[in-house]
Amino acid sequence: MDINEFQKMMKQLYFSRDAERGQEKTLAWLEDKVQELREALQEGNVKEARKEFADVLAWLASLANVVGIDLEKAALSKYDNKCPKCKQNPCDCPF
Ligand SMILES: [Zn+2]
Repeated sequence: MDINEFQKMMKQLYFSRDAERGQEKTLAWLEDKVQELREALQEGNVKEARKEFADVLAWLASLANVVGIDLEKAALSKYDNKCPKCKQNPCDCPF
């Protein structure tokens, strides 16, 4: 399964609910899930972090569906096998 297929699966599963919730509330859910990921990582809880990574990706896909953005296209048009800033692979930007 690639990013596009994952986003389509999320659309099939949740789009009617996501569309009704709307952009702002869906973004708030994504932010909550990022916070939960932060907490799991800070606690060193790998099992919980794995779940939160999944939630962050799922909510990111839901938000992209709500605003009509193709995640895979957006990601690959910016990160096309080189750093978008320095154009190198691996990145050679100053740290
Ligand atoms: Zn770079």
